[in-house]
Amino acid sequence: MERHRKKPIDISKDEFRKIGYSLIDSISNFIETIDEKPVTTKKTPLQLQKILGSQSLPENGTPPEELLSKATDLLFNHSLLNGHPKFLGYITSSAAPIGALADLLAASVNPNVGGQMLSPIATEIEKQTVKWLAEFIGVSPNYGGILVSGGNMANFTAFLAARTAKAPKNIKEEGLSSSSKKLIVYCSKTTHTWVEKAAILFGHGSKSIRWIPTGSSNKMNNDILEHTIKEDLENGNQPFMIVGTAGDVSTGTIDDLKAIATICKTYDLWFHIDGAYGVPAAVVPELKGLFDGIKEADSIALDPHKWLYTPLEAGCTLVKNPQHLLDTYSSHPEYYHLKDDDFSQNYFEYGLQNSRGFRALKVWLALQQVGRKGYENMICEDIELSKLLFTQAKNHPELKAVTQNLSITTFRYIPLGYTEVNNNDYLNKLNEELLNKLQSEGDVFVSNAIVKDKYCLRACIVNFRTSKKDIEEVVEIIVNLGRKVHKTLN
Ligand SMILES: *Cc1c(COP(=O)(O)O)cnc(C)c1O
Repeated sequence: MERHRKKPIDISKDEFRKIGYSLIDSISNFIETIDEKPVTTKKTPLQLQKILGSQSLPENGTPPEELLSKATDLLFNHSLLNGHPKFLGYITSSAAPIGALADLLAASVNPNVGGQMLSPIATEIEKQTVKWLAEFIGVSPNYGGILVSGGNMANFTAFLAARTAKAPKNIKEEGLSSSSKKLIVYCSKTTHTWVEKAAILFGHGSKSIRWIPTGSSNKMNNDILEHTIKEDLENGNQPFMIVGTAGDVSTGTIDDLKAIATICKTYDLWFHIDGAYGVPAAVVPELKGLFDGIKEADSIALDPHKWLYTPLEAGCTLVKNPQHLLDTYSSHPEYYHLKDDDFSQNYFEYGLQNSRGFRALKVWLALQQVGRKGYENMICEDIELSKLLFTQAKNHPELKAVTQNLSITTFRYIPLGYTEVNNNDYLNKLNEELLNKLQSEGDVFVSNAIVKDKYCLRACIVNFRTSKKDIEEVVEIIVNLGRKVHKTLN
């Protein structure tokens, strides 16, 4: 009898080697020459649909060699290359090459890191990764946690743990109606949109968020914060959580975490830090002071796929007392036969996912390839480049430097003879149009920020490939295009 089924999905060893080697050759060339390509494709979605074709689901198979060659071609030639040295937009880093190899290895073994029985060594590697991330940012290595897909999920995971810890005990059975008091969360008005998504998704409603104004330094105004908490208490609401931001998405500002920690203690609130972007900078000894108070956080969200340069996706939730994650997420259905051994850890009990991929591997490998010191150096260099951009903008007669924090610089183009006092509306329009042009021309990619009613260009450097020369060229490109756009608008 035939021992092997005919399996259209399998690839023989020889074929796998041949295709694999060829793919690795293409990838290494791609990485080596990434700076020679435009930062982004100039094609519109309609043009891309044409290139892709509109054929329907294939009835029969195609040899993998042909498919991979075609997919490689499509991706290399029609992508936005966030690994390009002049990609400075949003907060997406150049991906560490070791991460690509790690994902290949992880997918090949395919451990399901939901249960330790299904992922014996992968679970241990994830535990070690979580511990190292805690050490990296300078909190106790006894923090526990879990790798998730990104910052949003890391914050959601913490949000629910905070709620379980602070809401009435029967919330798990009765839901939000277990209490007549409205559960309230506090955060600065610069907080990322995740908090709104969380409040809506988890049934609190967006009106349960108190968006606290920021002061002149762009930090949450902690006097108003405390006043608002008192007001809520008087009105019969139940404050449960304060979110401090360590590096806000627009300008990189870090809230006064120490003061927030104190307010959390006074009112018995959960202290969460959203450090998705900025918290890795705590690895730099000279910057430690900015993160004062971090050790008191009940939970912290961070994103290895941002400033630790791992490829998408990798986020992490750290929790001071990991029992809060178990209290929130653990359940024991009868169809799981998982050994209850004191040393095993089943990650499905620590977060929202059940089956889980091995995201930790790429983070674990990058942390070892680079080391704490290596990361400190790269993060410092990114910050130095950001400061260089700020200085260049400040010294240029047609640019205005607006803010500089961590590795984010905001600035705007101002034609000679124009002033912010007299021409702000026009300058907003001009800079928005300039950004559109910059993003479509593909020489450099920056994004935008609105700082005190000013439309600004914004460069965030989480890119180990960016050099001083790139920054100088970026300034030149922006000024030249700024002049052109100004001309077309007049
Ligand atoms: C990027 C970011 C997020 C969202 O993270 P994703 O990885 O995009 O889901 C949340 N908060 C802050 C401060 C961020 O910088």
